[in-house]
Amino acid sequence: GRESCLVGLIGSGVGPSLSPALHQREADRHGLRYLYRTIDIDLLGLGPDGVGELVRAAARLGFDGLNITHPCKQTVIGHLDGLSEDAALLGAVNTVVFGEDGRAIGHNTDGSGFARSFARGLPDAPTGEIVLLGAGGAGAAVAHALLTVGADRLTLADTDPARAAGLAGTLTTRFGAARVRTVQGGGLPAAVEVADGLVHATPTGMAAHPGLPLPAGLLRPGLWVAEVVYRPLVTPLLTAARAAGCRTLDGGGMAVFQAADAFRLFTGREPDAERMLTDLTDL
Ligand code: NAD
Repeated sequence: GRESCLVGLIGSGVGPSLSPALHQREADRHGLRYLYRTIDIDLLGLGPDGVGELVRAAARLGFDGLNITHPCKQTVIGHLDGLSEDAALLGAVNTVVFGEDGRAIGHNTDGSGFARSFARGLPDAPTGEIVLLGAGGAGAAVAHALLTVGADRLTLADTDPARAAGLAGTLTTRFGAARVRTVQGGGLPAAVEVADGLVHATPTGMAAHPGLPLPAGLLRPGLWVAEVVYRPLVTPLLTAARAAGCRTLDGGGMAVFQAADAFRLFTGREPDAERMLTDLTDL
């Protein structure tokens, strides 16, 4: 492991991110000097492609790594020297590690983060039929993770049918056509009715996107509900699902485990994700 670590988070509106505190608190417990800075492309007047110049600058300034978030997870790829298998499969990078040789390698810890949170928070939840709402960046990471850990079949729904179809195509190539299908709005109730679980991966429930992503009447006991949104930690969907008697999982676990996986990549040290989960609740 390293003696000190300098990392950053590049994205839009990253100022209020909890990532600096999560990483630095864990580093403190390792006795590691660790600086985690937010680098906001909006404040710098840059668009999503501006991530390239920032990655090059960070490498030259001696950064050990970067986290990458919306809207740069795809645009960063063209500026890297290599990709992990997960990042290549997802076509998205949330973690960049600068090697001693100066090479910048992109990783994706969103899928592994969700998988660990799911295993921890909903152990032995049935995974025969799962409905996934939202086929964007988080949805893609969740979909690959669920099919990798053995979900039988995934039904994708997105208000933008092209996004659902695009993700279904990628998943079909990797996992086979029998395990993936898409539904449009009208087909959603029937799909939820026969599902074991529902994963929510749209921004609905965040301050800027209030409300529920589907009619509350579709929630019933026996359906588990996993949330990807983690600000707020308790979304209207989780409140409605708990009221309907569903087992639920909030998005905080995914946020913490993806951070823990990035911390390991940056430092070479093993993070204590349980302690980091406690930090998240305190923050
Ligand atoms: P994105 O914009 O890439 O994708 C969101 C998708 O949801 C889009 O395809 C959009 O068309 C679709 N959508 C919007 N409203 C919908 C609705 N009512 N029904 C169906 N589809 C709908 O966004 P993203 O990067 O995937 O992020 C989604 C959410 O996940 C955000 O709230 C983000 O903060 C959260 N997130 C959490 C973690 C975590 O670690 N917990 C990680 C990544 C993202």
